[in-house]
Amino acid sequence: MKSRIETILQNINDACSKSNRNFSDVKLMAVSKFHPVEEILQAYNCGLKLFGENRVQESCAKFPEILQNNTDVQLHLIGSLQRNKVKNIVPLCSCIQSLDRIELAKEIQKQCEKINKKMKVLFEVHTAEDSKSGFQNIDDIKTTLDYILSLKNSFLEPVGFMTMAPFTENEIEIRKSFITLRDIRDKIQKEYSDFNFTELSMGMSQDYKIAIEEGSTLVRIGTAIFGERKY
Ligand SMILES: *Cc1c(COP(=O)(O)O)cnc(C)c1O
Repeated sequence: MKSRIETILQNINDACSKSNRNFSDVKLMAVSKFHPVEEILQAYNCGLKLFGENRVQESCAKFPEILQNNTDVQLHLIGSLQRNKVKNIVPLCSCIQSLDRIELAKEIQKQCEKINKKMKVLFEVHTAEDSKSGFQNIDDIKTTLDYILSLKNSFLEPVGFMTMAPFTENEIEIRKSFITLRDIRDKIQKEYSDFNFTELSMGMSQDYKIAIEEGSTLVRIGTAIFGERKY
């Protein structure tokens, strides 16, 4: 695992150099879904501190112990979230990257208020035909931002956007998806100066180099760190 991580960090560094970016501007997230606690701790011992899970139940089974024993670990939720599970994930994670509808924003606000915890959120955007998740249009994102602005005491901190590129070998299609996310960010940032949308969460094991060239600030990598998942 150590040499896999070193290779990834080298690739991130190369992609940054190629696009005139700073290595320190790109965070590496280890996507640990389907991998046991011991492998997560192995990644932690290799220096990784940021982890991503896509299911609430699995997060609740693995992370309370990890977070309690290692206060510098952070967990982000990156998978689609049902409203009735928000209360279970809110105490565990520092960011929900899969905000995809206003109803979810309302529930996160409600549950965070109960435990007095601020939550960073990323707007997940549908940028490719074959992906199912994410906001489908900019107006719905704006309506959700307007809702957050209308709150007297908001527990939601919108910090950026997230997307998944299409599952294809076609580099042009992949790049197009990342450019779409960046353009949406730029457009919304102009209209909502109350927020700082600094985070662009894009890039996975197959496409993180392209994502970094197009401005990614957070790459979500599972397979290239842990190996193939056994479903
Ligand atoms: C599983 C997953 C990843 C990681 O995928 P790999 O191809 O294993 O790197 C990244 N983002 C999301 C949203 C995922 O569900």
